[in-house]
Amino acid sequence: FERLKKGLEKTRKSFFDGIKQLLKVGRIDEEMLQELEELLIAADVGHQTTTWIIEKLKQERPDDPIVSLKKILVELLEADTALNLTGSPSVISVVGVNGSGKTTTVAKLASQFQAMGKSVVMAAADTFRAAAIEQLKVWGERINCTVIAHEEGSDPAAVAYDAVNHAKSKSKDIVIIDTAGRLHTKKNLMEELRKIHRVVAKLVDGAPHEVLLVIDATTGQNGLMQARIFKEMVNVTGIVITKLDGTAKGGIALAIKHELSLPIKFIGVGESVDDLKPFDAKQFVEALLS
Ligand code: GDP
Repeated sequence: FERLKKGLEKTRKSFFDGIKQLLKVGRIDEEMLQELEELLIAADVGHQTTTWIIEKLKQERPDDPIVSLKKILVELLEADTALNLTGSPSVISVVGVNGSGKTTTVAKLASQFQAMGKSVVMAAADTFRAAAIEQLKVWGERINCTVIAHEEGSDPAAVAYDAVNHAKSKSKDIVIIDTAGRLHTKKNLMEELRKIHRVVAKLVDGAPHEVLLVIDATTGQNGLMQARIFKEMVNVTGIVITKLDGTAKGGIALAIKHELSLPIKFIGVGESVDDLKPFDAKQFVEALLS
């Protein structure tokens, strides 16, 4: 919890400490709601989500506004965050724009699964960039995890195919696929991701079991807009929000959940492997408002 609190420090100090101070007064009036609205919007909670929160708070007519706000935020963020790991192997596809933290997230997840005693294969299916393939290989060596990779420019679906077959033949538990994120060639990217998912679906029942969409918190409303495009393109099962440690505008997490209606499954609050945390709505809200 302390690590999480530290990771969210910028957002807390810039906005949520102010919100806490504001609500301490105890009574809810128009002026106070106006100030709360401004703080939430400044923290990148977004207009739509901010309005929703303020309305809820008004309806509650709380004796203790802080307790009430915490309850509203937990209710907003809470969802089923468990991963579906019922496949043999379970296939997790990780999608998102370049630079969002996809490759790092793949490696952090692999490392955490391995620490839980699971065997993992990582698939370097961002074949568009040689650097992405190389980066995953470096991670593979660092965390001692098998990486299936082909040449730069090869078919990403073929990489996924090989990775899943490798996992099947070696009875590995989990395959994590790192995908490309060139959103400027939206149509190609959409087809590429769909093809990867079609190919793995033929190899394992129910695959991909998870499609995790990685969003960089520091990109704010722009990141949210890109996320909407991915949600339309592929069957996303959950969100990973990265780099929450690098922004004061961590309120974007609330906007993401409210506007995309998808469970936030992990958050990244730093560069090390342990800084990718399973998302816990109560802890998140406590880290911001206690
Ligand atoms: P990709 O292009 O989507 O695969 O992005 P990368 O995985 O290469 O990540 C881009 C950069 O973001 C790297 O320098 C990562 O170390 C960094 N990064 C990823 N997640 C986090 C996070 O939660 N916090 C911080 N501070 N940096 C992160």
